[in-house]
Order: sequence, then structure tokens, then C-alpha cells
Amino acid sequence: MQKTAHIIGAGISGLSAAVRLANANYRVSVHEATQTTGGRCRSYFDAATNLMIDNGNHLLLSGNSHALAYARSIGTEAGLVGPKRAQFPFVDVSTGQRWQLDLGDGRLPLWVFDEVRRVPDTGLRDYLALMPLIWAGTDKLVGKAIPCEGTLYQRLVQPLLLAALNVDPPEGSAGLAGAIVRETLAKGGRYIEPLVASPSLAAAFVDPAIARLRSDGADIRLGRSLRAVKFADGRAVGLAFDEEDETVGAEDCVILAVPPWTAQKLLPGTDAPDTFRAILNAHFRIVPPSHAKPMVGVIGGTVEWIFAFHDRLSVTVSAADHLMDTDIDDLTLLLWRDVSAVHDLTGPVPPCRIVKEKRATFAATPAQDARRPAARTRWTNLFLAGDWTNTGLPATIEGALRSGNTAASLVRGGA
Ligand SMILES: Cc1cc2nc3c(=O)[nH]c(=O)nc-3n(C[C@H](O)[C@H](O)[C@H](O)COP(=O)(O)OP(=O)(O)OC[C@H]3O[C@@H](n4cnc5c(N)ncnc54)[C@H](O)[C@@H]3O)c2cc1C
Repeated sequence: MQKTAHIIGAGISGLSAAVRLANANYRVSVHEATQTTGGRCRSYFDAATNLMIDNGNHLLLSGNSHALAYARSIGTEAGLVGPKRAQFPFVDVSTGQRWQLDLGDGRLPLWVFDEVRRVPDTGLRDYLALMPLIWAGTDKLVGKAIPCEGTLYQRLVQPLLLAALNVDPPEGSAGLAGAIVRETLAKGGRYIEPLVASPSLAAAFVDPAIARLRSDGADIRLGRSLRAVKFADGRAVGLAFDEEDETVGAEDCVILAVPPWTAQKLLPGTDAPDTFRAILNAHFRIVPPSHAKPMVGVIGGTVEWIFAFHDRLSVTVSAADHLMDTDIDDLTLLLWRDVSAVHDLTGPVPPCRIVKEKRATFAATPAQDARRPAARTRWTNLFLAGDWTNTGLPATIEGALRSGNTAASLVRGGA
């Protein structure tokens, strides 16, 4: 008889588990509390700008092997686009200085030996001082592992680690930062080419997965919030939703791919991160000038990254808790000031949508990292997934997909 996998939560961790298990001939039921799929990685039509927007700009890197494998498995690899070479243009809006970091397309980080390709006003010794990150332990702070001051820090290390960890880098986990560096930066330009979902997050990560699951006979149920799990004899035996209960059969399994606070309510006694950081995005409806690069790093302003899409310029500010209560009109002007400086724009402020995600990710500090649980639980047929579980990575798409794959492997009896 076909076994059923109940996946709770249709974020990308849940979807990656669902796709793997559907491929392994499980009968898959996805239960999602809201009316939309994708969780924190979603797209929607916004009436204020008359645009389809993503809740946030999501940057991937070519070294994100699970993200690329997932995209291949749902046929969307072509929807992850970026320059063929790992080049990162930067603008310091406080001085007007512009430069481009060129990491090349090789398999070794040889660019650090080439003065022209390095960050201006930095030397080889600055880069060698970053090496302790590569082998830093999980209990170590970034601020204790590497120098968090100076030109290289301000122009490269701070923006990259802030984006990766979503905390002020000195308080971040050196172990998590090191994992990112090992899988991308340290392997050379080939592994750090920037990739952005095009035309949308939903098109690259969500809708084709849902379509594939449905065509494989999966049941995708929206507006179905799990309220409680019933246990007996060391296993999950029932799921209590708002409207009805469902039995979990003797051969069936459950993957909880919900946020940490929900998992803790459903499974009291579960350790989980409990401190979060915000991310702020703003989407300006404007056709970018022809010279606009797809992605620009911004130093010395409020904005950190500007992404150019065919119909909008979108900006990201990480660890943005300090901006959550700022008046929207003030915020719009503040952000537009940086965008117009970077792209030499002089017209009025275009229509804008600001998206504040208050609990965008858990704070990637050593203390929070230590609270992340494994995918396996004390119940034999119940597993955890989500970017907040112990993936060894910060809260990223790569980590979320990895967690879903791990949970799916455990369901199938693997490691
Ligand atoms: C603004 C923003 C920008 C980001 N930028 C990047 C980036 O540049 N690069 C990157 O790699 N990552 C980025 N991330 C992180 C990335 O989005 C997340 O790591 C990923 O989406 C997490 O997926 P998940 O499945 O683990 O969790 P979630 O997306 O949170 O999914 C959990 C799902 O469970 C559902 N749920 C909750 N409770 C219940 C219940 N009781 N019953 C049923 N369903 C329930 C929720 O509605 C949700 O759909 C960003 C995140 C945000 C918010």
C-alpha cells in the first residue's frame, strides 16, 4: 500500500520534502495554514505599484548546490539568472566612489592576488586575516574570529556577512559564516556567481513545484492550520486541524515544516531559536536605466543592495529592526535617496511598496545556533524541516531546501 507523507507548511522546506517524497512514490498531503504557498519566499500582485513583486529580494549563489538541484528537479533552473562571471559592483554613496569586485570564474580564489580585481585600498594581508573564518567553531563570534574594522571589512566583509547572517556581523556565528565561505567564496568565482529568481520567486521555487506535486496526485490543502499532533506509542497518530482531525496511519509519516514558534507550540519541549531579525525590502516602480547593473552593493547609506528588474528597482536592508517603526513616507524618501544616487536618477519618487518582514530569519548568533534542533525527533514517524533546524547554514533558501531533503531522507529510512 502507498504510504502517506503529511507535510505541514508549504514554504520551500516543506515543498522540497514533498517533491522528494512524491518522486519516491509516497502519497503526499501538504497542509498550509495560509491561502498562499511559498511561506517567506513568495510573490504576489501589489496594487500600490501595479506590479508582481516578491516579498523580498532573494540572492542565491552558484555554490548553492541544493537550490540548483531543487530547481533542476522542478524544471526551473533557467529561472535562476545572473551574470556569467562573479562580479559585484559597489557604490559608496557617502563618497561617490564606485568599484567592481571581480571574483572571476575559476575554482580557486585567485582574485585576492590581483590588485585590480580586489576591493580598492586593500592588500593581500587583509584577505589572509579572514582565513580563521574557514575553520571557526560554532561557538565563536565573527567579531572574535576576524577583524571587524578597516577598509576590507567595511567594503566587503560587512555587506556580505550581513546579507548572509542577517545580524550585525561581529555578533554573528563564525561557524555559520565559515560554512558559507567554505561553500562559496573560498572555492573561487565559479561558486559565487550571484543568482536571482526571474521573473519571480514563485516562478522559480514555488508554482512549478505545486504543479508537479498536483500532477503526481498530491493533495495541496490551503487554509489548513495544524493545531495539535496526537501521539501514542512514541509516534504521531493524528493531526488536529481547525475543522477536522486526520489519522496518521501506521506506515505514514509527518514532516513539520513550520516556523520555530509554531513547532514549539505543537511539540512542547522542542529547542528552537527564539530571537529573530527583520529584513526590509522596497520595490520602486520604474524601468531601470539601461546602464543599471542587475545587482549593486551600496555602502555608506541606508540601502544595502539594489536589484534591477525590467519593471522595478528593488532594495534590501538586512537586520532592519531599527527601521521597523519608521514612518513609511520617511522611509521611502530615505531609500530613494540611495537608489537615485546609485543610478543617477533625478525624477520624482516613483510608486513604491515597502515590505517589512519582522521575523525574517532567526538571528544567526552562536547562542541561537545552539538552539537549533535536528530533523529527527523522539517520535519515530515525525521529522522537522525549516531553515531554523540544524542545517549548518544560516537561514537561507539553501538551508531550507537542505532541511527538507534531510527530512525526506529520514522518512525513507536514510541518514
Ligand atoms: C525578506 C526576506 C529576504 C530573504 N532573503 C534571502 C536571500 O537573499 N537569500 C536566501 O537564501 N534566503 C533569504 N531569505 C530566507 C528564506 O526566505 C527562508 O530561509 C526560506 O524561505 C524559509 O523557508 P521555510 O520553508 O524554512 O520556512 P517558511 O517559509 O516560514 O515556511 C513555513 C510555512 O509553514 C506555514 N505554517 C505555519 N504554521 C502552520 C500551521 N500551524 N499549519 C500549517 N502550516 C503552517 C507558514 O504559513 C509557511 O508557509 C529571506 C527571507 C526574507 C523574509
